[in-house]
Amino acid sequence: MKISFSSPSLPKSGVLILLVPESGGLTGLAAKADQRCQGQISRAMAAAGFTGRRDTTLDIVAPGGGLGRVVLFGIGAPASLRPLDLEMLGGATAGVIQALKTESASIAVDVDVTGLAPREAASLIASGVQLRVYSFTRYKSKKPETRPLREVVLLTPDLRGARQRFEAFEAVAEGVHLARDLVNEPPNVLHPVAFAERMRPLAKHGLKVSVMTPAQMRKLGMNALLGVAQGSSHEARIVVMEWRGGKAGDQPLAFIGKGVTFDSGGISIKPAQGMEDMKGDMGGAACVAGLMLALARRKAKVNAIGAIGLVENMPDGKAQRPGDIVTSMSGQTIAVLNTDAEGRLVLADVLWYVQDRFKPRFMIDLATLTGAILVALGKEHAGLFSNNDELAQRLAEAGYATGEKVWRLPLAPEYDKIIDHDVADVKNTGGRHAGSITAAQFLQRFVNSVPWAHLDVAGTAMDTPRSAINQSWGAGWGVRLLNRLVAQYYEG
Ligand code: MN
Ligand code: ZN
Repeated sequence: MKISFSSPSLPKSGVLILLVPESGGLTGLAAKADQRCQGQISRAMAAAGFTGRRDTTLDIVAPGGGLGRVVLFGIGAPASLRPLDLEMLGGATAGVIQALKTESASIAVDVDVTGLAPREAASLIASGVQLRVYSFTRYKSKKPETRPLREVVLLTPDLRGARQRFEAFEAVAEGVHLARDLVNEPPNVLHPVAFAERMRPLAKHGLKVSVMTPAQMRKLGMNALLGVAQGSSHEARIVVMEWRGGKAGDQPLAFIGKGVTFDSGGISIKPAQGMEDMKGDMGGAACVAGLMLALARRKAKVNAIGAIGLVENMPDGKAQRPGDIVTSMSGQTIAVLNTDAEGRLVLADVLWYVQDRFKPRFMIDLATLTGAILVALGKEHAGLFSNNDELAQRLAEAGYATGEKVWRLPLAPEYDKIIDHDVADVKNTGGRHAGSITAAQFLQRFVNSVPWAHLDVAGTAMDTPRSAINQSWGAGWGVRLLNRLVAQYYEG
């Protein structure tokens, strides 16, 4: 589907969406449309009691004056709308457009919606449209009966400014769509090797993409990661994506993702109920891939590294056992007491590698790490853990701005003690209590003094509550959050 921008004039065909502020009357193009059909729109509003209350709609079919179909969309009090609300508004109008099964539609954004510049308002609404119209239909063998939506036109007085501003939003939405695709893919298709192969074409956007094989990992001593992979018939991969958009000497920002393409639990096998959802156990890696695409596509003025650890966790005669002790790349030994606590084993080696090899300014890892984070926070916030208050604060702000919210939980020596082991240096589970915290404590043992944040996205990366801008099982959660963090605090 195409999104374009045009100056405010009444369209000759397709559905026209008019944004109506609460009790503000019709202005601009809406007033013009009303005139064209001899007041039919105002009469319909009065008859239906439509006042422009937020998220209410009024569908007017063939009002006259050559207009085919007009939908009024209430936006409430324009002064109360934040930029995120405008994206949500765009998503909601796109939902209305899709439900009408029309091939094309125009949205008039010539009303003064927030005091934002017209180009900002129009591009935010366009962004919401693009995020909303995503669909994952690759595995449907039958084509839908109605013709799909081909084009949405944003009518704005500053079409050139809006078009230019939209480029960055479009890049981010593409990153979100990539992340959603990856999470939605079934695990027989998207195994570790296939995931890595899908990252190679990102090089055409200016990313340097390197793929590490098990032989290379063995040489580096990444036995924690390799231990997880050894029960699978698919080899492990680590993919490192580098974006150099900043100054040559600037330390890179580093983003690390857990990419367990399917988590059966291994020998500590999970119950059958809901196990199919474990195709989404690579949601952290998907987010990192989407973020790197977004940064490259919008030519972000920053140096950044994306590193993802890709494995499949399976039971097998060769699988690792509860009780095994592995030596990680850091040299620390780990007692694997539960093979289902595998994500931290993968991250232990990738975190260590990234910190050692790239000397990053900070590291942020994303991982569908613990079921316990769902007990604590449900699906509305991701768990945030950090050794750095500034980084934590910035993530919280970016979460509020994008609606991809995070909530900070503590790290402390008392929790760290819980994962000491009598034979090895550390054990990979601390038991039921404070399960998300002890998982984060484990990760911290593989981070030295570099500023670091860990996002436990087990509740947000998949089967996320649907919203105006997301109707997909795989939400692509975190791409907009981290893009905002980079744009707001680290570019230039
Ligand atoms: Mn697991
Ligand atoms: Zn897992």
